[in-house]
Amino acid sequence: MGNDDLVKGLIRSGLIRSDAVKMAFSSVDRRYFVPPEQKKDAYLDTPLPTMDGQTISAPHMVAIMAEELRVESGMKVLEIGTGSGYHAAIVSRIVGPEGRVVSVERVPSLVEWGRANLRRAGIENVMVIKGDGSKGYHLEAPYDRIYYTAGSPDVPETVRGQLNEDGIILGVVGPARGTQRLVRYTKKGGRWEERTLTYCVFVPLIGELGY
Ligand code: SAM
Repeated sequence: MGNDDLVKGLIRSGLIRSDAVKMAFSSVDRRYFVPPEQKKDAYLDTPLPTMDGQTISAPHMVAIMAEELRVESGMKVLEIGTGSGYHAAIVSRIVGPEGRVVSVERVPSLVEWGRANLRRAGIENVMVIKGDGSKGYHLEAPYDRIYYTAGSPDVPETVRGQLNEDGIILGVVGPARGTQRLVRYTKKGGRWEERTLTYCVFVPLIGELGY
């Protein structure tokens, strides 16, 4: 089983729908982003442990989020929770060389490992920042898209304020442990449209405006 089989499975199950997301998954080998002891399971559609009690998200969740974020070429995207760097790598392929992903991670060992994984995978348009992403990252704002990869009580004003008009935020909203909601927030004419897309279980967002 290889990366191609993983991608075919996600297409068959209807989770990868667009050519852009298909291209991204085909051009990023998940093997670069899993720890050595997990390599044999790199192409399984399941979350895997990384370090410090954290996880690399399941490919089906990355696919759902990549489609629902409606990312386009040239966009600037903020990711909250770098982890292995896999999800950022997928989004970076969609935004392409004219676009950029800024990703914030709070665990120093993951910052180093995520950066190294991205480098090994040949990804050059992801900037990994060490810090508390619960407040977003105002130094690179505004963003066209923002997404969380950890569960938080809500999406605070300070993060919403870092999004461009007509932008989209994918939030993982709910309790620190247990079932959370994947919510899409769309900013339109200074107002917010909010829609729950599915239910999910992510690690908690730990920080000033998280848990
Ligand atoms: N996107 C990742 C991937 O593809 O491997 C998976 C991320 S993992 C589910 C969630 C990550 O969020 C963890 O690496 C965790 O350390 C990080 N995290 C938790 N709280 C955070 C915070 N306040 N700021 C930045 N990162 C945070």
